[in-house]
Amino acid sequence: MPTYEEARNIVLESVAPVGTERVETGRALGRTLAEDVAAPWHLPFCDNSAMDGYAVRADDCRGPARLKITGYIPAGGTALTVVEPGCAVKIMTGAPIPAGCDAVIPFEETEEGDGHVVVKGKVKVRQHIRFRAEDVREGDVVLRGGTPLRPPEISMLASLGKAFVPVYRKVRVAVLSTGDELIELGEPPSPGMIVNSNSPAIAAAVRETGAEAVLLGIARDDLACHMEKISEGLKADALITTAGVSAGDRDLVREVLAEAGVVSRFWRVDIKPGGPTAFGMKDGKPVFSLPGNPVSALITFEAFVRPALLRMMGRKRVVRPLVKATLAGEVRKKAGKVNFLRVGIEVRGGEYFASSAGDQNTGILRTMVLADALAVLPADKTSFAAGETVDVFLLGETLR
Ligand code: AMP
Ligand code: MG
Repeated sequence: MPTYEEARNIVLESVAPVGTERVETGRALGRTLAEDVAAPWHLPFCDNSAMDGYAVRADDCRGPARLKITGYIPAGGTALTVVEPGCAVKIMTGAPIPAGCDAVIPFEETEEGDGHVVVKGKVKVRQHIRFRAEDVREGDVVLRGGTPLRPPEISMLASLGKAFVPVYRKVRVAVLSTGDELIELGEPPSPGMIVNSNSPAIAAAVRETGAEAVLLGIARDDLACHMEKISEGLKADALITTAGVSAGDRDLVREVLAEAGVVSRFWRVDIKPGGPTAFGMKDGKPVFSLPGNPVSALITFEAFVRPALLRMMGRKRVVRPLVKATLAGEVRKKAGKVNFLRVGIEVRGGEYFASSAGDQNTGILRTMVLADALAVLPADKTSFAAGETVDVFLLGETLR
């Protein structure tokens, strides 16, 4: 049985990016760049003013100066005017620097009257000018393939005139729930029946990675029904099933996957919760068989599926960073398995404090709702004192 890290490595070594496409830069947020991007021109494109003020010759402003205003260059204007000795040209932020000028004086440091400007403060050569190519030089590789596109990257691409960008395409992920006890959302509850919460929950987790979810509904506990749905699911880029993967007599998922040609890479992982997780591959496509328990399904999604989907969408860093948190109370566990502890997080004095989010029984979904993070408790350690530091990873970008 693989450990947590071994199982995750098996998954990550099995998957690869699924392909690329070109999308509008304005719609590329969250996607991953598929190629290096080189600058087609300098940034700034030309010397331009960093302030609203006056373009001057710094030499004219050694002492108290009164300069004749001989022109005006608005933002978007052209620098046809030349700054002659003893003169100043009114200039707006972003406007091109006219010939002769080697400094810009902000309005706040001047007084204007009678067609002249009086310079009050000191003036240094090159001040308040944004020089051509000081940010990016033509030909520079500014973004590497594999970079996730955040607003700053979108800004850089747009600044360089890239209307379309090559990105890894979104992974299409089929989501299948299995079990005779399941009813669909909207059906009235009855004893022995359970609402299929895994389909919407896992689909949401899929979408949170930036991938697309394809909902296959419920496979009832018979071989034909499983085979039909699983065959359908294998048309997507990846398939996630939930439940039916333990050792129960109606746990058909592994049997049907094998019959459908899915080659098993592992079944069961040395973790808690989420032990009865299976993973296999068919024609380069990963198949994740997660436990049916809604808490276990979400935690194993975090542990194995999310990193895989991110890798398939071109991301290089796919594992949520572990950070240190101080435990608020004592925690005990059995030796042998990595445990994922659902914890709430508080930030005090810039440091993380973790406290159990509630009853850690996997039947308690509420504790998952109350969790900000999962603490990863090492396999061999059994007791953790209050005040001790543990590794946690945050489950989202925001704390509850
Ligand atoms: P299993 O893995 O089939 O033994 O299922 C474990 C537990 O998860 C059982 O209590 C199931 O009723 C529950 N379960 C299985 N599938 C779902 C689902 N799609 N939504 C909510 N609960 C489920
Ligand atoms: Mg079942």
